[in-house]
Amino acid sequence: MCDADVIVVGAGISGLACARELLRKGIHVCVLEASDRVGGRTYSVEMSSQRIDLGGQWIASKAQQPFVQALVKELGLQLHPQHYNGKRILDLQDRQPLEYSTDIPTGIGLRALLAVQFTLWYCTLQARLNIGSAAAKDTSGKLGRFDQHSTADVLEKIAGLSGQVATKALVTAMIRGVFGCEAKELSWLHFLHYIACAGGLERLVTIKKGFQEHTVLGGAQQISERLAKEVRSLGGKLEFNCKVTSVTTEADGVWVACGESKSFRCLRCVFATPPKQLGNVKFAPALPSSRAALHTSVFIGCIIKAVFRYGRPFWRLNGFSGEVVAEATDDEPCFNCYDHCVGDCHMLVCFLNGSPARTWSLRTQDERRQVLLKQLTKWFGPEASHPLEYLEKDWAADEFTGGCPVGCYPPKTLAPHMQALRKPCGRLHWAGTEAAEACQGFMEGAIQAAQRAAREVSGHFSRL
Ligand SMILES: Cc1cc2nc3c(=O)[nH]c(=O)nc-3n(C[C@H](O)[C@H](O)[C@H](O)COP(=O)(O)OP(=O)(O)OC[C@H]3O[C@@H](n4cnc5c(N)ncnc54)[C@H](O)[C@@H]3O)c2cc1C
Repeated sequence: MCDADVIVVGAGISGLACARELLRKGIHVCVLEASDRVGGRTYSVEMSSQRIDLGGQWIASKAQQPFVQALVKELGLQLHPQHYNGKRILDLQDRQPLEYSTDIPTGIGLRALLAVQFTLWYCTLQARLNIGSAAAKDTSGKLGRFDQHSTADVLEKIAGLSGQVATKALVTAMIRGVFGCEAKELSWLHFLHYIACAGGLERLVTIKKGFQEHTVLGGAQQISERLAKEVRSLGGKLEFNCKVTSVTTEADGVWVACGESKSFRCLRCVFATPPKQLGNVKFAPALPSSRAALHTSVFIGCIIKAVFRYGRPFWRLNGFSGEVVAEATDDEPCFNCYDHCVGDCHMLVCFLNGSPARTWSLRTQDERRQVLLKQLTKWFGPEASHPLEYLEKDWAADEFTGGCPVGCYPPKTLAPHMQALRKPCGRLHWAGTEAAEACQGFMEGAIQAAQRAAREVSGHFSRL
């Protein structure tokens, strides 16, 4: 006797989108979620009159991210354009902050600009020519060769980073922004595969024509909240505080256990959690070695996201867009800042990513608030030191995510197991943004992977 036809593990966007697809096909689904809320890496909290995002926030145009755009529309959510008019700031350690109103920071000099542009172009071309978004078979050994190197090794060679302070700072900020880690930690193969999935590198880091064009009015967690409502109304079950700890596959079904006290039986199981979280789940029989290796070698980046609310948008009034890219250090840990004004709520969003985030994760919330205010005051003047409210989330401290934004592979760990990224293991299927073919690491990828996994699973039920 089964508790459900399918158990979905994880009630983030991916798990819930997958559950809804299956329920719509008449398949009975139960979603097991370790925490006490839906949304996973999206988390929207009240600030003044608004709900704002301490997790995933931005989405791109329909051309670049069709799945999330369609879902947001279907769920009746509204988009809000990301503000970008006004002067932007580039803050490098070896000079005064540069202000610029063009698309590129011309003040860093032609050589540095060309090196950055060449890096963006070279990486995108390499990804398109050599990798593709599908997990290709490494027949020629090319993927294995890419996987031998760290991203830092290759970028050092192509951009001559050691001789170019500004280029190195911008490339470091780009890697920290996209992966939440340092270039030396990241396999060059993983980096290229990620770019291939996104359709290019430049779009990952830009507002205009990039992945940061829109936010969801009222917060991105609403996507999961509305999906959960639909899952329930279609007859699906959603169980909170159910951390899956072991999975036993038998000839005619699967037992999914949450600690000693609860277990559920189903015919098939879809995992929609960050792969790092599956490293601690006991599978019997053991998973194929390639799949198991993906769970043990993956690591997840580190992001602390912080939001300050002010009485007025003084930066806009002084001609600034609110966007800053900085060469973060342990003393000045914020590497990126954006305007986030919605209605009467005037906010600046700050990011600590990668190595500075790991350092500041060990400090207190008040220490982080103080150091961020110092940087904001440097960029936007004394008014920045008087916020009305401060909220933050340190994702490394999140028990069920363990970091953010996405699972990453160190050199020499991905190529031998790439084909296992999405391949089902008997009755077990893989969703979640890390299993996406498009926009891996983003909400878009979470939905794309959910739909692919739902198709895979429902194919088995139609044959019954
Ligand atoms: C600070 C930050 C900024 C980001 N910015 C953006 C952005 O601007 N745009 C964008 O598109 N994306 C962004 N992302 C990434 C985006 O949020 C994720 O790609 C997306 O939400 C992933 O969805 P998911 O359903 O695949 O996984 P998750 O949201 O991680 O959901 C997985 C769920 O599984 C649960 N779980 C884990 N282990 C277990 C277990 N053993 N048993 C049961 N349940 C378990 C977790 O609690 C969680 O609820 C950002 C993320 C962060 C944190």
